[in-house]
Amino acid sequence: MITVKEALNHILSSISSLGFEKVDILSALGRIIGEDVYAPRNIPPRDNSAMDGYALKSKDITGAGPDNPVILNVIEDIPAGYTPQKTVGSGEAARIMTGAPVPEGADAVVMVEETKSDDAGVRIYAEAAEGQNIRYAGEDVRDGDLVIRAGTLLRPAETGMLSALGCSFVRVYQKPMVALIATGDELIGIDGAGSPGKIVNSNSYSLAAQVMECGGIPLQIGIAKDNRDDLTAKFRDALRADIIVSSAGVSVGDYDFVKDVMEDIGIKIEFWQVAERPGKPMTFGTREGKPVFGLPGNPVSSMITFEQYVRPAILKMTGHKDIFRKIIRAKLAEDIKKKKGLRYFIRGRVRNQGESVIVETTGEQGSGILKSMVLANCIIIIPEDMDFVRAGSEVMVQILDNSQDFTKDPEYLSD
Ligand code: AMP
Ligand code: MG
Repeated sequence: MITVKEALNHILSSISSLGFEKVDILSALGRIIGEDVYAPRNIPPRDNSAMDGYALKSKDITGAGPDNPVILNVIEDIPAGYTPQKTVGSGEAARIMTGAPVPEGADAVVMVEETKSDDAGVRIYAEAAEGQNIRYAGEDVRDGDLVIRAGTLLRPAETGMLSALGCSFVRVYQKPMVALIATGDELIGIDGAGSPGKIVNSNSYSLAAQVMECGGIPLQIGIAKDNRDDLTAKFRDALRADIIVSSAGVSVGDYDFVKDVMEDIGIKIEFWQVAERPGKPMTFGTREGKPVFGLPGNPVSSMITFEQYVRPAILKMTGHKDIFRKIIRAKLAEDIKKKKGLRYFIRGRVRNQGESVIVETTGEQGSGILKSMVLANCIIIIPEDMDFVRAGSEVMVQILDNSQDFTKDPEYLSD
């Protein structure tokens, strides 16, 4: 039996990325870009006004003040999106809107609130420094700049930047197709819920959702019966995917044929059994570099082992560098007893309480208790060498989602 750390290292060292594909920038959201993006032009493309006001020569209004306006002759009106036709000369100003190009000759914009227009022209009631209220061409991005590096995660900000650069398609890491095989004679499809003696194949749904959440494409192979022929057929079918994930049939029961079948079709078993709970019978193999995960069948075990092993593998395969969930420290609200030698992944809820971060378990922790996952927003990780953790101790907590109320800063939310 190997440790969680050994298992993870073994898996990750066997993962290489797939190729790239060109997709439109909105489809690229949340994915890793596989090319450097250089600016093909300046952003903004021209000097433009940051205010509604008057473009003028700053020297012309030296000494202007509330009681001492300077009167300028208005030569032109420049709405946003229009090109100025005239050059601003001494004693002149152009009315300008936010975002409109600054006309030749002008070196500052005075905001409209500091002006008053009448038949004589415009009265300017304040001085302006050179460059005031002007956004210079290329001040955001300069023509030729490396704006987004290969390997960057594309977030909404990058989406906006790519569009500003006129880049509508980008090269991103391909999404892996992840084949999901459920195994067990007791399993029935979702519409068979309620059949006596049968259990709904929920693993194929929770696993498909987990695959989708980390950027893979689930491929449902369906339910394999507990016999070698059907298992072999389903595993062969799954070989067209980039990753294979099966659940159940990896323990030591009479009908646990998954490992045998994997070997029959040329999958090399890299390891079987990990010192962990839940998830001990976890199996990992490869076939010509293709990773094959034989997850345990209990609904919690399959989800937890997906979290610990398959998710980081998918993220690595798709070019991500941050492949692990965030780990924080929290104060345990109750005693935890455990077996020495195994790493425990306990479902928990973490929350803020005053200055402290508190974590409690979600109650009953059996590996068939899927509700323990439903109630959880984190996994409490208790290391191998411990057999008891006292309430009040600090423990490691792996954050599964953002449902904990860390952001409820009273100052931020009060009005
Ligand atoms: P096994 O490892 O085959 O002994 O399965 C362990 C437990 O997980 C059994 O109670 C199964 O009924 C349950 N189980 C296996 N596969 C699934 C599945 N796809 N969906 C829900 N429960 C499952
Ligand atoms: Mg079974």
